[in-house]
Amino acid sequence: MVNSVKETVRGTFEQYLQTKGLRKTQERFAILDAIYSIDGHFTMEQLLEIFEASKFRVSRATLYNTMELLVDAHLVVHHNFNHSSRYEKSYAATAHFHRICMACGAVTEVNDEKLRAAIENTHCKGFTISHTSLYIYGMCSRCASARRRKEKKMKEKREQEKKNNK
Ligand SMILES: [Zn+2]
Ligand SMILES: [Zn+2]
Repeated sequence: MVNSVKETVRGTFEQYLQTKGLRKTQERFAILDAIYSIDGHFTMEQLLEIFEASKFRVSRATLYNTMELLVDAHLVVHHNFNHSSRYEKSYAATAHFHRICMACGAVTEVNDEKLRAAIENTHCKGFTISHTSLYIYGMCSRCASARRRKEKKMKEKREQEKKNNK
């Protein structure tokens, strides 16, 4: 299953490079392969680390250049979560939505069947949907409880000050 996905995307990328008249280098396919071995989101730095740890040498310039091609070929999705760049594979990935904490920037995936069905069943007249993307912004429970603790402390401090002033 996993291997057939990798083979399919390799074929798609090969065709893309051919159409664009670009070279089918070993590095480009190694990058595609590495991306399709990662589960979930990743940053460019994380991808660089994977290559630094492996014997296969890929320069930063090649990596950035190839990522652009992969996004253009619709094999990789580029996200801008609360001002931080993340990537993820797009082919054969389960449709999911992203929940982003505006305080700490944590991103979690939402796999809600009802939400997915609602979006899939939305008919747009005179429009063919290729894919959907949904970002839900808010605050994670950790940040929310940290904020509550901070507010409680502030309140106690204010009350103490009031008492002291009497
Ligand atoms: Zn995702
Ligand atoms: Zn948070």
